[in-house]
Amino acid sequence: MDCLFCKISEGVIPAKIVFENERIVAFDDINPQAPTHIQIIPRKHIATVLEVAAEDRELIGEIIQTAAALARERGVADDGFRLVVNTNPAAGQSVYHLHVHLIGGRSLGWPPG
Ligand code: 5GP
Ligand code: ZN
Repeated sequence: MDCLFCKISEGVIPAKIVFENERIVAFDDINPQAPTHIQIIPRKHIATVLEVAAEDRELIGEIIQTAAALARERGVADDGFRLVVNTNPAAGQSVYHLHVHLIGGRSLGWPPG
């Protein structure tokens, strides 16, 4: 399958990996929008949040816990951070492999653009 994040998960395309296990990979975003900008992805190819199945529930929970652990590690947990899952064109999704953006290290505007 021609998927950028599958290739990062497989090590075919390099990335600055900050955490990985059998199910999940986390890596620094190539075009960071804040001092901390990490992508947390399942190794399993899931195109968007709309394709998350009942069998993926534990995996999604582990992704959220991994994001929280990384936020603590990076020292942005107490000040605050944002987890973002852009879905489909109006939200600006550009990579169709489910990914959770962990964004922190500066104050973040609300509502998002
Ligand atoms: P989306 O717009 O789909 O929500 O987010 C895709 C994210 O992937 C963007 O923040 C973009 O900078 C990041 N990205 C795109 N290509 C690469 C890449 O080759 N390596 C890394 N590390 N991040 C990428
Ligand atoms: Zn993929």
